[in-house]
Amino acid sequence: MRLRAVAVTRLIIVSNRVQATSADATANQGGLAVALSSALRQTNGIWFGWSGKETETFSGSIDLQKRDGVTTATIDLEPQDVEEYYNGYANRTLWPLFHYRVDMAEFERGFAGGYERVNARFADTILPLIEPADLVWVNDYHLIPLGRELRRRGCDNRIGFFLHIPWPPMRLLLTLPSHRELVESLFAYDVVGFQTDDWMQSFFDYVRGELALEVGDDGEISFAGRTIRAVVCPIGIDVSDFVPQAEGEVAARTCKAMMVSANDRAMIIGVDRLDYSKGLQERFLGYDRFLASRPDLHEQVFLLQIAPPSRADVQSYQEIRAGLDALSGRINGEYASAEWVPIRYVNKGYPRDRLAGMYRAAKVGLVTPLRDGMNLVAKEFVAAQDPGDPGVLILSKFAGAAAQLKEAILVNPYSAEDIADALAQALEMPIEQRLARWRALMDNVEREDVLWWLQTFVKAMSRD
Ligand code: UDP
Repeated sequence: MRLRAVAVTRLIIVSNRVQATSADATANQGGLAVALSSALRQTNGIWFGWSGKETETFSGSIDLQKRDGVTTATIDLEPQDVEEYYNGYANRTLWPLFHYRVDMAEFERGFAGGYERVNARFADTILPLIEPADLVWVNDYHLIPLGRELRRRGCDNRIGFFLHIPWPPMRLLLTLPSHRELVESLFAYDVVGFQTDDWMQSFFDYVRGELALEVGDDGEISFAGRTIRAVVCPIGIDVSDFVPQAEGEVAARTCKAMMVSANDRAMIIGVDRLDYSKGLQERFLGYDRFLASRPDLHEQVFLLQIAPPSRADVQSYQEIRAGLDALSGRINGEYASAEWVPIRYVNKGYPRDRLAGMYRAAKVGLVTPLRDGMNLVAKEFVAAQDPGDPGVLILSKFAGAAAQLKEAILVNPYSAEDIADALAQALEMPIEQRLARWRALMDNVEREDVLWWLQTFVKAMSRD
């Protein structure tokens, strides 16, 4: 992959975790890691973040490694940092709140203190690595105050921040005890990027309503002597890497094996980290409703739900797992026969080349998060389809991806009836309509891919 816009300036990318960049890992890592690695290689840049490891006492010592032309710089954190910053403020405060789940958000001063401390530690350790002409790109909700911490230490480089998750409506954000400090810290950046216009408008609502500021036509907002520019820049997948994978040998073998095991039944597929934002319970209830209303389709369809566990240290995640075990058991108990199980519920993850084969074997992709910053699975499902006989995408209106993938069947993921109707429509859709919808979806996935995202954001960051 070749990047034009970023060829001149060195990039420093900062994210909570740094992903492996070795060639072996490429098949398993996300398109994001591949694209960022590519940009870093071409600008001789550095990717900085937490190693994922713990150390007794924080030393600030950096593990610098160069692999495949990409330099990574990682630090270890103390167990208390991990508990308060990562498991605490990031995963138990900001993640639920920013996904509109204020009922699940935990507000603890200790978490907020750990978040500030780790952001200051990141700033202390990264500062000596930054050279005057570097572009600094900070990623995601773990690191919102990092720009401010860097400015406090004298960094006057161009710094951009990109939020991968939604921005919550103003009235929800007001429940966060330190909401004002958090939002004000964003004004340390030059550019702040959002996945959709919806999330950006929620940010503007806060800025106007709480900070009494004006938003310029170009998304420019001035506060305390600084001007930031807000931009919409939806992330895409690495099409040039994923499509060949979907057409490759591993995917073909997996697709064939799935077809054999499907035994002429139409497969509906869901692939999601086990997370309450993904709407798995509501999805199962929608499928339950579909089975109840369409006895004629029993034994002719099945739902394959791949749901690798995530954040198992957090109690709410243990609870959703138990809830889904019970619900899938109840639905299977009610409808299964000796030859047919309506839900195949799989609690493990698969590498992306195998997933590509499974997407291709499916007649329907069922992607129904209650709230999602983007949702890359929706784009991967589209990119993996057989152009001559594509499957149908059912997509939640509340996923960021819905702003681009308008030709999917868009549903309200809270409504079991909506999901049931969409399943019937998808399974019975004539080939001409499937082809037309898929072509339009694929045009978007190809046009606004990860490379386009990267170049668009870097260009916004570079602008004076
Ligand atoms: N994924 C994977 N193996 C799995 C399940 C998911 O590699 O078993 C990948 C999937 O292909 C996608 C990513 O994990 O690239 C999930 O991204 P998405 O934006 O859909 O959701 P997130 O998990 O980031 O909230």
